Amino acid sequence: MNENSPVDAAAHALSPHLRMEPEELVARIQAVRDQWGPRLVILGHHYQRDEVIAMADLRGDSYRLSELAAGNEACRAIVFCGVHFMAETADILANQPKLLARRDGERVDVILPELAAGCSMADLAHIDQVETCWRQLAEVIDVEDVMPVTYVNSSAALKAFCGRRGGIVCTSANAAAVLDWAFARRRRVLFLPDQHLGRNTALAKGIRVEQMPVWDPEQPSLGGNDDASIGASRVILWRGHCSVHLAFRPEHVRDVRRRMPDVKVIVHPECMHEVVGEADLSGSTSRIIREVEAAPPGTRWAIGTELNLVNRLRQEHPEQEIHFLAPNVGVCPSMYLIDLPRLCWAVENLAAGTPVNVIRVDDRTAEGALLALKRMLEVK
Ligand code: SF4
Repeated sequence: MNENSPVDAAAHALSPHLRMEPEELVARIQAVRDQWGPRLVILGHHYQRDEVIAMADLRGDSYRLSELAAGNEACRAIVFCGVHFMAETADILANQPKLLARRDGERVDVILPELAAGCSMADLAHIDQVETCWRQLAEVIDVEDVMPVTYVNSSAALKAFCGRRGGIVCTSANAAAVLDWAFARRRRVLFLPDQHLGRNTALAKGIRVEQMPVWDPEQPSLGGNDDASIGASRVILWRGHCSVHLAFRPEHVRDVRRRMPDVKVIVHPECMHEVVGEADLSGSTSRIIREVEAAPPGTRWAIGTELNLVNRLRQEHPEQEIHFLAPNVGVCPSMYLIDLPRLCWAVENLAAGTPVNVIRVDDRTAEGALLALKRMLEVK
């Protein structure tokens, strides 16, 4: 072990917690929660493990958790059981100037229990690549007429890029409303970083595939497109994807229908359009949960989203028959990095006055990103 390496040092500090039994970890986390009361908020994304969700004060998707982070007056520390971009978003919202002034400048620490919990989709759109894209677009079209829209699964730098250009953040829950908002203001949209959410949402609005060129940041010129296709575009789709949702294939839907003709298939819009097109319904994690909750008992479901969420729905709704859409798709590996030992380690360090893994977005980036996030929170 290299004691000077931050990664090795964190692993060393964590090692006692890795040897503890789950019961002890739960008791120790609960002791910190009791001590801190409403000043500590543990947020749990739907894709977290069950044992982590059991310790969360609030669970939800990115949109819901973002709103909660912005609105909690008593909170002085957030432990975000999710991935890096979510903790960045919580930091920006919880420490926005208006709220900081109300707390006499006191910051809310936002802690990510495992720094390696990134998001492979967010990593596919680096700010330098997006700035290059914007410069190249400006050579062939009027970028004043292009609305940059970024899915919330993106870095704070990308959100700030959009915010400073009049653009907006969307979630899978409000992407359709955000596209309406964008087209009410500008002729074209640059949709970042998930091509599938962008394509599925725009197709549902009647925009044709040939009006949606895909921008490949690895291509040296115009993302691999020609002037004519960019000129004819309505939505320029960044070539990003979620590796978890991309693993669902149309043949999974056909196979489950062959085995269970009465099944209702619901998938997340991060799935490719061919999958969404074969499903009965598509929607955000919140919508998937709502649809299952509202269905008559005995409804047969095949659900195409992250496995932890589907398993939890199955446990919480024994009156429904819930199946996972595909045999060879699983959990989100980034979300799975967060476990009870890491959560316990994070809250105990917070309680000891030595917070670890604090996510802090620099002021200039936060200012730009907040513009785009505020617009998002206003579009329902
Ligand atoms: S499920 Fe996909 S989009 Fe969500 S955090 Fe994991 S990699 Fe990122």
